[in-house]
Amino acid sequence: MEAGENCCVKVAVHVRPLIGDEKLQGCKDCVTVVPGKPQVQIGTHSFTFDHVYGITGSPSSAMFEECIAPLVDGLFQGYNATVLAYGQTGSGKTYTMGTGFKDGYQTGIIPQVMDVLFNKIETLKHQTEFQLHVSFIEILKEEVLDLLEPPCMSKQETANGHVGKVTVPGKPPIQIRETSNGVITLAGSTEVSVSTLKEMAACLEQGSLGRATGSTNMNNQSSRSHAIFTITLEQMRKPTHAIPSEGSLNETMNEEYLCAKLHLVDLAGSERAKRTGSDGQRFKEGVHINKGLLALGNVISALGDEKKRKEGVHVPYRDSKLTRLLQDSLGGNSRTVMIACISPADINAEETLNTLKYANRAR
Ligand code: ADP
Ligand code: MG
Repeated sequence: MEAGENCCVKVAVHVRPLIGDEKLQGCKDCVTVVPGKPQVQIGTHSFTFDHVYGITGSPSSAMFEECIAPLVDGLFQGYNATVLAYGQTGSGKTYTMGTGFKDGYQTGIIPQVMDVLFNKIETLKHQTEFQLHVSFIEILKEEVLDLLEPPCMSKQETANGHVGKVTVPGKPPIQIRETSNGVITLAGSTEVSVSTLKEMAACLEQGSLGRATGSTNMNNQSSRSHAIFTITLEQMRKPTHAIPSEGSLNETMNEEYLCAKLHLVDLAGSERAKRTGSDGQRFKEGVHINKGLLALGNVISALGDEKKRKEGVHVPYRDSKLTRLLQDSLGGNSRTVMIACISPADINAEETLNTLKYANRAR
């Protein structure tokens, strides 16, 4: 995508291999990737995307180079970006994003983003001053929860017998706000200022562990919530004085301030988002439907429809907390990549087909 190019959403499919459980159950592979093409077939259905990765497509390592690295570059040019991992529970969203500390820590998208980010900062820091902030929140049942809340527990308190995290009584809920120039902010969530890769990794770890703990005692919360790891990069170019050479002016570069953010989103399991109607129709909301996934589908569909966009059709960002929070990083000048995660197992065929249809709508 070129800088400044009008909004478009890139869609990639990530097919994970059959996992232990599926093999034990004797599952068969029901997904085929057309060789040399970003095309996926399941039953009689065939879909073409921007990229297909995984077992028989391009290797997953290509995903970072082709889909994610350009977004990190864009961050340095001041463009906001969003990466969304979509799919049913167990399809590999957390593995792909690297949101789970144990699973994806070494190989997932977030750890690779961190690597590239800090390497780039290292090469530019003589001419630019950088400030990085991280937030990590979860949206569960239309409520924003802080995964980086400092534990209100000191060593002394532990010695006195207090165990675990203490919630601050009367702490106001986290609110999504919009500034007069359209920047979305989160009021009341923890923003950690980080200056090293290690510090950023510690934030990822802390939030991931918080999320995992929640899932064991809250009816598998992690499959019903959206986890959003956000990196904000502020940069101030230092004024440089070029050495005057014969025939050239002594140029003083103006100080330039840029601020951009990258949202890395591990979405809620899509199995609850039942859709009705044919492609292109609005999702109908029913019981058990995840509001965020429905709204996201409608927003992305509205953004992707060039005709509608030219007519200035309303993009329904305000329909959910998820789309509201991502509003300034979806559409406009920002870049969005959706990674549809699928299992190749025949027992998951129905959900896999739903995922491919949802992703197809985003193109
Ligand atoms: P989700 O977050 O969508 O519920 P997970 O990321 O937790 O799914 O993946 C489910 C299981 O599949 C995990 O045990 C994970 O380690 C495994 N898995 C996912 N993707 C891959 C992959 N590309 N290669 C190998 N194992 C994978
Ligand atoms: Mg997960």
